[in-house]
Amino acid sequence: MKMNKLQTLLQESKTVIADGALGTMFQAAGLAPGESPVVWNIEHPDRVRAVHRAYIEAGAQILITNTFVGSRFRLAQHGWAARVAEANRVGAEILREEIARAGVDVIAAGDIGPSGELLAPLGALAFDDAVAGFEEQARALIDGGVDVIWTMTLSDLEEARAVIAGVRRVSKDIPILASLTFDTRGRTMMGVKPETAARALLDWGAAAIGGNCGNGPEEILGVVQKMRAVAPDAILIAKSNAGKPELVDGKTIFRATPEVMAQSARELRDAGARIIGGCCGTTPAHIRAMAEAVDSG
Ligand SMILES: [Zn+2]
Repeated sequence: MKMNKLQTLLQESKTVIADGALGTMFQAAGLAPGESPVVWNIEHPDRVRAVHRAYIEAGAQILITNTFVGSRFRLAQHGWAARVAEANRVGAEILREEIARAGVDVIAAGDIGPSGELLAPLGALAFDDAVAGFEEQARALIDGGVDVIWTMTLSDLEEARAVIAGVRRVSKDIPILASLTFDTRGRTMMGVKPETAARALLDWGAAAIGGNCGNGPEEILGVVQKMRAVAPDAILIAKSNAGKPELVDGKTIFRATPEVMAQSARELRDAGARIIGGCCGTTPAHIRAMAEAVDSG
């Protein structure tokens, strides 16, 4: 059977380096509070391209599209519900073009984040409506040329199931990476344990599973260890924030330096993580240090 691009990359590299944060990079580039970063794919593509380019130059081998909050559920809050397909397709095209321009053979991952709503019966969002919304987003990302879909920062397993179902309506075989955020005493905000998530996500056909965002690399290390204990053969993801978010003068800051993240990248690798990158607060400098660290033992 022909290997997909993700399988090839995983065969060639013991550790695959993912990119770092987009959101906090855009904030540093002038994204206003309450402004949707996804709208930048259309209105400021140059700024989005610059961040992708910096992560490619830093050594990232899997890069996410600027579409984390690109579902209709999120874009509707900004009056962009009618432009979901366009904003996601262009987000994918921008990334593909920057990868092509750099002349590197790396993976474009279509990023699908949570709806921001609670699924029924806890909330008002019906499962089928969630699936339809994620299908719409996935279709646009796949039309735009992504190699894989990466759904991240989820806390509700049912929502993960809805994303996967939505993606599978569009493509039977595109690899799906799924990472949840275990930031509440070792569980997700919705009470999901890493072991439970690992079993479910693998059952639903995820190609790689793990943790992202949260309170920093130590928290993610625990997630990797727990997932590995129940799923020793799974491809594990660790995409940690640059430390625990701290509120200082009304601003969220992340204190972990590139050196700290580089050291933790080694620990995550040694614990069994195969896909290692950064989330909020990480920059191309962090990713470069992490790539060098896992490379040099
Ligand atoms: Zn994050």
